[in-house]
Amino acid sequence: MEKWELSALDAYTNRVYKIIVLIIPIFCLCASATIISLHSLGWYPDVNETALWMFAVSDFLYLAIGFYFIKTGFGENGIVLPDKLKAGKYVMAVIVIVQWNMISYIWPYMDFWAFGLLFTIVEAFFFDVKLVAFSTVGISASMFISWFVKGERLLPPQDDYFVANMTFRMVGILLMFLSINIITYFGGKFLVEELEKYVNYDTLTHLLNRRSMDNYLQAAYKQAKTGKATFCLMMMDIDDFKKVNDTYGHAFGDEVLKYVAATISTGVKKDDNVFRWGGEEILVLLETDEEKTVAAAERIRKDIAKDPVIYQGGTEVYVTVTIGVAPYHNGISVQQMMEEADAKLYFGKRNGKNQVVSRLPDDKDDEDKKTKKQEISSENIKIAEYSLASDGVL
Ligand code: GH3
Ligand code: MG
Ligand code: MG
Repeated sequence: MEKWELSALDAYTNRVYKIIVLIIPIFCLCASATIISLHSLGWYPDVNETALWMFAVSDFLYLAIGFYFIKTGFGENGIVLPDKLKAGKYVMAVIVIVQWNMISYIWPYMDFWAFGLLFTIVEAFFFDVKLVAFSTVGISASMFISWFVKGERLLPPQDDYFVANMTFRMVGILLMFLSINIITYFGGKFLVEELEKYVNYDTLTHLLNRRSMDNYLQAAYKQAKTGKATFCLMMMDIDDFKKVNDTYGHAFGDEVLKYVAATISTGVKKDDNVFRWGGEEILVLLETDEEKTVAAAERIRKDIAKDPVIYQGGTEVYVTVTIGVAPYHNGISVQQMMEEADAKLYFGKRNGKNQVVSRLPDDKDDEDKKTKKQEISSENIKIAEYSLASDGVL
């Protein structure tokens, strides 16, 4: 995997992960320190000693779990690993719920319900609404159960104010948990999703960027390995693009690039993914077989060549692309598929451009051989369907 610069979102997630997996155990330790101090000073006499010490020991265990998540949580890119992030979040949420229950039974305190906010708000920093919902449901369920079990200590006194006290309490709990969920939902939806778009998409072409490509390729590869699906790669490069830049300027070159990207995006199915692989090189991942991919590539090539991009007031500028197609087949790696698509693309570049190359000629003297993989020449190789550039570029 390549190394990527940390995006703002990665940096945020990394920090929140580190802080949360430590701050929750530290809060837990503070709670046991407070309770043990109160008990040893004689201000909280009615407590089960064994349970109290078990409570303190478990808090140290939580801290050890927190350190474990910090130590094992990061990949070689310095970004927190997705499975560790998920595990870390939910383990901490469970710890908080366990802690809530331990305090409710070992050290029952009438207004403990009001701490519900403190017990759930730290998780809001992940902007993960499922996690916060899990946490708030867990805490409120624990709370209601404890009121039945330890009602004499946890419910308000049965006097004239009982109904008023209970009403305030219920409204308080409802508003408190509702607000945490709403904050998390909107934060996740409008901040994190926006940031994710910025991180995973290219701002000029609005195609997926190279950084996000690896995940998609690995997912398609995993799926294909099970034999349930297949996929193909299409690597394309604009022909003589330097000339476009040199003749009309870089800004117009950008317009051409946008036109090509948009034409490709509309030329593939919704499930297919289009990536800006390099400057003006585009990679398409199609969840289909070779035959359909070659047909799609041919259609895209024609679509791009068909319409001009208009330069200042009227000059019509036509561009073409050359496309190399590599299908998945048993025993081939993603890396080999990329190399195969690349070799076919450059074969097309050397042989007239504006074409789709799905097979390489089996020519021992051809210098392409150096970059070619053995697998390519294994069966029935012939130069298949590549139409030579007849319509001149520019
Ligand atoms: P070929 O047919 O062999 O592909 O010729 P080419 O001129 O297209 O050569 P090549 O693919 O090597 O050139 C890539 C050029 O694309 C170089 C660079 O100036 C230009 N380019 C890369 N990214 C951008 C971009 O974002 N905007 C613009 N305007 N030009 C870009
Ligand atoms: Mg080019
Ligand atoms: Mg190029």
